[in-house]
Amino acid sequence: MTSLQDCRALDAVDPLRPLRDLFALPAGVIYLDGNSLGPLPRATAARVARAVQDEWGEGLIRSWNSAGWFELPARIGDRIAPWIGAAAGEVVATDTTSVNLYKVLSAALTLAAQDAPRRRVVVSERSNFPTDLYIAQALCRERGCELRLVEAEGIAAALDAGVAVLLLTHVNYRTGAMHAMADVTARAHAAGALAIWDLAHSAGAVPVDLHAADADFAIGCGYKYLNGGPGAPAFAWVHPRHADRFWQPLAGWWGHEAPFAFTPEYRPAPGIARYLCGTQPVLSMTALGCGLETLEASLPLGGMAALRRKSLALTDLFIALVEQRCAGAGLRLVTPRGHADRGSQVCLARDTGAYALVQALIARGVIGDYRAPDILRFGFTPLYLGFEDVWQAVEHLREVLATGEWQREEFNRQQAVT
Ligand SMILES: *Cc1c(COP(=O)(O)O)cnc(C)c1O
Repeated sequence: MTSLQDCRALDAVDPLRPLRDLFALPAGVIYLDGNSLGPLPRATAARVARAVQDEWGEGLIRSWNSAGWFELPARIGDRIAPWIGAAAGEVVATDTTSVNLYKVLSAALTLAAQDAPRRRVVVSERSNFPTDLYIAQALCRERGCELRLVEAEGIAAALDAGVAVLLLTHVNYRTGAMHAMADVTARAHAAGALAIWDLAHSAGAVPVDLHAADADFAIGCGYKYLNGGPGAPAFAWVHPRHADRFWQPLAGWWGHEAPFAFTPEYRPAPGIARYLCGTQPVLSMTALGCGLETLEASLPLGGMAALRRKSLALTDLFIALVEQRCAGAGLRLVTPRGHADRGSQVCLARDTGAYALVQALIARGVIGDYRAPDILRFGFTPLYLGFEDVWQAVEHLREVLATGEWQREEFNRQQAVT
């Protein structure tokens, strides 16, 4: 049995503990939703204010050059690269995850059509994040392709000679289950298909090595574990073997080889820069830079290896405490137990009351989220969460269940964003 004192002792020797001070978390909140919206870094408000007042207010249009605005997508992309096993010059920060998926899936289908015209199937997981499935549906309609949705266990069997692209999210948003990226990519390649990985729940959360996995394309999110703020730019990566082979479909002027030549013909920029479309959100990009600083601050303390070690310790502790202290309360562990099989979140299911339980916890300052129809989802970010936080979160969950507090009417009224 783990005690509160044990948790405090773990915090006392946690080498990552000082990183918590990089965040402006509200008092009394245990934030278990950094997988949905990373919290505000302390540096962001002043840095964005400077971008507004000095760079925009004083510098005006000169700041595209003098403040380096124009290079931001590439510079921020270069800072994302080491967290996903990409090299400098291979990543751009831009647009949204959904839009970037449209670009890379379209590019992958074009590649497949050139190299293997009979391949017309996109395989994905039925439980993939819906926006990924919607974008895939739209593109398949447009291209006359088939979208084949399977369960995780059925992926290998679905990779037949008709498959052009395997599109997967590395860590599942609902269950926290993680694919073995290198093995699955090798299987796709052996079947003659390209592999696209959505890193929304893995960039900054788990070790990712796109080159070691020999992936073809990747996209990911800036406002989750990268702490870039609401609506932060997403990112796109294309393996250098593909990057120069074709245009992506949203061929706007920022992806042009020389945007300020204003030529009537599109000439794609070399490499990943052609995955840009139009003018970038400079203020959001600036905030994303501050989010990346919080991850970079972990580098002298062991970087991703240390973050992952603590993330697994936090999630192991959460699972153990829920099983010890909330036994018999109808909660089931949905997330796989094996360390290699999960990301940085733990999901519990309950036949009734999952939504209301999450609302009751939020009212107590323990912020997780609900995913229909029956999941309580808790994200664990080792940058700012401690072991006592995990203890207190489970204690609140135990009390909310034991007292029936969750059954109050106010916790059973559903809101638009869950
Ligand atoms: C969060 C998330 C997205 C978000 O897409 P947006 O275009 O930023 O809204 C996409 N895919 C996955 C798998 C996600 O988890």
